[in-house]
Amino acid sequence: MNDAQALRVRFAPSPTGYLHVGGARTALFNWLLARKAGGRFIVRIEDTDTDRNVEGAIPKIIEDLRWLGLNWDEGIEVGGPHAPYLQSQRLDLYRAAVTKLLETGQAYYAFDTSAELEAMREQAMAEKRNFRYPRPERFPDESDMQQARAAGKPVVVRFKMPGEDITVHDEVMGQVTIKADELDDFIIVKADGMPTYHLANVTDDGEMQINFVVRGQEFLAQTPRHIALQRALGYPTPRYAHLPLIMDMKGRKLSKRDGDVEVFSFRQAGYLPETLVNFIALLGWSPGMQREQFSLSEIVEVFDTARVNRANAKFDRDKLLAFNTDYCASLGEDRLLEAFTDWLSINPDSSLAKANLDESSRRTLLHVNKGFRLFPDIEKKSGFIYLPDEAIEYDPQAVKKVLAKNDGEGFAMLRMLLPQIEATAPWTHETLEALIANVCQSHGAGMNKVAQPIRVAVAGTTVSPAIYDTLVMLGKEKTLNRIRRALATVQ
Ligand code: GLU
Repeated sequence: MNDAQALRVRFAPSPTGYLHVGGARTALFNWLLARKAGGRFIVRIEDTDTDRNVEGAIPKIIEDLRWLGLNWDEGIEVGGPHAPYLQSQRLDLYRAAVTKLLETGQAYYAFDTSAELEAMREQAMAEKRNFRYPRPERFPDESDMQQARAAGKPVVVRFKMPGEDITVHDEVMGQVTIKADELDDFIIVKADGMPTYHLANVTDDGEMQINFVVRGQEFLAQTPRHIALQRALGYPTPRYAHLPLIMDMKGRKLSKRDGDVEVFSFRQAGYLPETLVNFIALLGWSPGMQREQFSLSEIVEVFDTARVNRANAKFDRDKLLAFNTDYCASLGEDRLLEAFTDWLSINPDSSLAKANLDESSRRTLLHVNKGFRLFPDIEKKSGFIYLPDEAIEYDPQAVKKVLAKNDGEGFAMLRMLLPQIEATAPWTHETLEALIANVCQSHGAGMNKVAQPIRVAVAGTTVSPAIYDTLVMLGKEKTLNRIRRALATVQ
């Protein structure tokens, strides 16, 4: 690439499901490179494998990328000079490429059935040699193709590999050479007439003038085929960087069995996009300094493919959670409120979402739950406040330990408190603090002896935000209702 040429990178997901962390990392690294170099980041959807396409996946991928904060300069939805950015709408281009390859003898028709191919593979196995598709002496012409089609045979197009070793100069993995005899004539048009991933991918990278391809290491083995196709079609070979694999903590390829792997699941589980992009940036890349927590704009400054390692990356969920806890503690209040509001909107079944909280209640919740790791912690600790009083369930352990113990010491405390609580006005942090301090003093009781019975009565458990915050949020009427209900139902 000459220096004057602007960097053009892309993320090219296939719509086979939600965006997972591997895809998100590819998108992020490309985005970072483009932003750092003042280049263009393109998002193209590779949907020519119709069997694997999943209905509704495209809008989800788009939403996840946006949630992560990875905007694109050209591509799906935003348009651009190479529109459309959906491969199923670009079939004419691939057809033109195939025609060119057929006409110049660089591709040929083939009509093998899957049973025939299977038999060839088995024979190769029996003869203890690698299977290579046997290229015919003479390539079938159009009339052979028509005949085969009329006879109901599958018609595919195969690319004639040039028969030479191909070296990938990979900026992460180094030089990778694949021997000519490992590269056989692969399919570029399937029997259903659709281009394969290889053909569509290479054609689009060429047409869209992508000059740096950054993607997962699982694609490296295909790259020599892509280089051969680029040469045949007259496209320049871009720079390449293949990113290391992402493994779980046991050294296995990251997968669902180990927990969430989809960006949306992390969002739903209450992670912040700030956390996720920071964490994902470290999957294979290291900033070369002790510090690990960076905002997206800070990563743009320090990011460089030279610091992407070859070694497999480790997906450390404990670290991710620790990152999120830190981000929740350090983000500005307004930004946290925005993220919390987003979390509520995608978790409509949580009692906090059902409560339709106004902005000031949402702010208060964030405030009184300081130190939380994930948004569901707020739900767990404070959701009870917004339940109908009769929905409070009393945890038998808490009832036993806090209310029933010592001949119903806690119940007695609640009975004693009831008229005083009734008489408390106004209902504020200060008046409640004075009330409880008073009772502690007159009974020679510790704070817990007074606060815990109230807590169990209003929350059903021993877990809630600080008692005054809880009671203020709950309001006087509900506090009284719940104490009366506890006395009437669990005593
Ligand atoms: N469509 C491919 C995928 O599913 C993209 C491969 C590439 O980036 O070249 O990830």
